[in-house]
Amino acid sequence: MTIYQNLIAGEWVGSDATKNINPSDTNEVVGLYADGTAEDTKNAIAAAKAAFPAWSRSGIWERHVILKKAGDEIMARKDELGALLAREEGKTLPEAIGETIRASQIFEFFAGEALRLAGEVIPSVRPNIGVEITRDPLGVIGIITPWNFPIAIPAWKIAPALCYGNTIVFKPAELVPACSWAIVDILHRAGLPKGVLNLVMGKGSVVGQAMLDSPDVAGITFTGSTGTGRRVAAASIEHNRKFQLEMGGKNPMVVLDDADLTVAVEAAANSGFFSTGQRCTASSRLIVTEGIHDKFVAALTQKLETLVVDNALKPGTHIGPVVDEKQLKTDTDYIEIGRQEGAKLAFGGELITRETPGFYLQPTLFTEATNQMRISREEIFGPVVSVIRVKDYEEALATANDTPFGLSAGIATTSLKHATHFKRNSEAGMVMVNLPTAGVDFHVPFGGRKGSSYGPREQGKYAAEFYTTVKTAYTLA
Ligand code: ADP
Repeated sequence: MTIYQNLIAGEWVGSDATKNINPSDTNEVVGLYADGTAEDTKNAIAAAKAAFPAWSRSGIWERHVILKKAGDEIMARKDELGALLAREEGKTLPEAIGETIRASQIFEFFAGEALRLAGEVIPSVRPNIGVEITRDPLGVIGIITPWNFPIAIPAWKIAPALCYGNTIVFKPAELVPACSWAIVDILHRAGLPKGVLNLVMGKGSVVGQAMLDSPDVAGITFTGSTGTGRRVAAASIEHNRKFQLEMGGKNPMVVLDDADLTVAVEAAANSGFFSTGQRCTASSRLIVTEGIHDKFVAALTQKLETLVVDNALKPGTHIGPVVDEKQLKTDTDYIEIGRQEGAKLAFGGELITRETPGFYLQPTLFTEATNQMRISREEIFGPVVSVIRVKDYEEALATANDTPFGLSAGIATTSLKHATHFKRNSEAGMVMVNLPTAGVDFHVPFGGRKGSSYGPREQGKYAAEFYTTVKTAYTLA
């Protein structure tokens, strides 16, 4: 089998490799992907550092052309790349193709942004002096990504980093190197000068750690677990480095008595269970007022009965497998914790066997949960959702905000008054009215508050806040 190698200083290198396994069919090896070392990482950082002066001064047209070419190729290959994504991560083929299209759109967006780089010219408070405010790139950016969005998250970090003139050392998650390899290959062939984008696949504790320990990495953008995020933060402070973290969520969706039941059920089923609940924006707490509670639980349970859990590539599958054995164990451990805490298992909770061997778990719904239970406070990152019964809107809002996280929050209501109040008073970075908490646009800011995020927002024009540093220049006329 061919080994998909790391890209360091414009050369494909590496002979040790790890198997990329399909979670829908564990007999299938998606490919062999290089296992980078600390030495590889050091070389990649040195290459990115050497490439920075020229790339940071490259013309905006060159950046535009390369980003646009990448976006176009990803779109042209959406079905093939989508299938690769579904095979390595386990989300369904339509979801995987949708994510691939989004990655393409992100490259197209930042291709446009490259042509819109601008500063400000303003008069000084002193006569005969002019002031210019410009944005400079940071330098070498370390990109560390998780497994749940194997193409979109790399795209939304790589595209702005290049757009604003930075060079990159990119480490994808161990479980999903294939889509990352594909987009690096696309950008390399699109004409990026050597060393501008370096790919080092491998272990977090080896490759990731070598990035954290390097004084030559000027910024790290990280999406992953809270624990690793804290390590990124501590190491970055040590090196006086800029950092941006996207971590967990325990996103609430409030359902009020006056909600449109169909809208509420669709939003809850989508947010809680699609992509196997493995989205940081998934809603895992459904906070439901008394008047609609029983009707809502009955309708949601009915909906869950219709959802097909099976091989991600099989037509008709609604929910693919859990990503790997470790995550499956986390999910089943939390199901046991929920039972022991006294929540009522209203649906699911069991492992399922399918034609192909994979990590299949029924969508799982707990009712009679309280907001203090561990299943309501800790991120599970699987298809496990709890329903918390509350008396009224005020209690619902307080419960929604009573969490260490603050990424996304939703409300299902037909009341303009409550929708407006919730938008203003939710302590989340993103608020959804009558929509799933997951599923966001690519051209507007993404990010959260409290324990979910740290640093500037990602995506859209707000991405410039992280990937550039502002310079103020004064000139005597
Ligand atoms: P998850 O539990 O969802 O896999 P992690 O935070 O462990 O979340 O992983 C997110 C990313 O962080 C992955 O690319 C992983 O390899 C990387 N990572 C893990 N440990 C470290 C570390 N010590 N230093 C830097 N990166 C790490």
